Amino acid sequence: MLTRRGAYAWGILTISVALAACGAQDRIAGQAFGPALPAPPVASTAPATVSTTPASPPPATSSSAPPATTPKPAAPAGRVVVLDPGHNGGNAANPAAINKSVPAGRGKTKACNTTGTATDAGYAEHAFTWDTANRVREILAGRGVRVVLTRPNDSGVGPCVDQRAAIGNRENAAAVVSIHADGSTAEGAHGFHVAYSAPALNAAQGEPSQRLARTVRDRMVAAGLATSTYIGSNGLSPRDDLAGLNLSERPAVLVECGNMRDADEAARLSSPDGRQRYAAAIAEGILAYLG
Ligand code: ZN
Repeated sequence: MLTRRGAYAWGILTISVALAACGAQDRIAGQAFGPALPAPPVASTAPATVSTTPASPPPATSSSAPPATTPKPAAPAGRVVVLDPGHNGGNAANPAAINKSVPAGRGKTKACNTTGTATDAGYAEHAFTWDTANRVREILAGRGVRVVLTRPNDSGVGPCVDQRAAIGNRENAAAVVSIHADGSTAEGAHGFHVAYSAPALNAAQGEPSQRLARTVRDRMVAAGLATSTYIGSNGLSPRDDLAGLNLSERPAVLVECGNMRDADEAARLSSPDGRQRYAAAIAEGILAYLG
């Protein structure tokens, strides 16, 4: 979730705070809350990444004569996509680490990371983003795309939002896609939106990121998913306050798949079939963007 302010880590062991806190990309915070605690190891200082070996190319079809035209490759093999599952399962237990102030772009700072939101039944956003990102990874890997995740599991801390952006930059990613779910309690608020950096701070944040956002949006609409009723317009949301997008030097978007506090969407977000539906739409959007 994107619109909640601040770092919420102090008191995160309470359900109310865990529900309220979403947004690795939350608005500028830059303050630490709560008592000083010994700093645990912070994953962001040395973010682990998980690479997926590209699938082997399909065997050449046997033919006595070459085709008249060269068929378009079935997959964008050799290109790298960075998937960024929002938040992390260990964030809630490590408030000192995730409240650390880090660069957020545009001269601002914000909290390293947040705990994320949850459904009313307690299904956590970090679990949703981890599972869904891995489903996207499976689809992309099957199409020959090398996928890098910004965190290696769902039990660690961080990485910080600036480090997540740095992974996409370091990998020279063809596309960077952050995956989140929102936690709005506004009456009737539901639907997905795709955020992109605006005004763009570099060329990659301009047309490429906007096209990536539109392409992912279009595939999600085609999958029957409703666009947001409460953020952005037609499923798109230009933003200047999202660190991961501000700091990206590669085409990058952030997908808020749905509202975990909406009953219908909570059911979809909580179910494996629902997550596969989100993942398939996101993966198809990425593949269409890669061409
Ligand atoms: Zn989030």
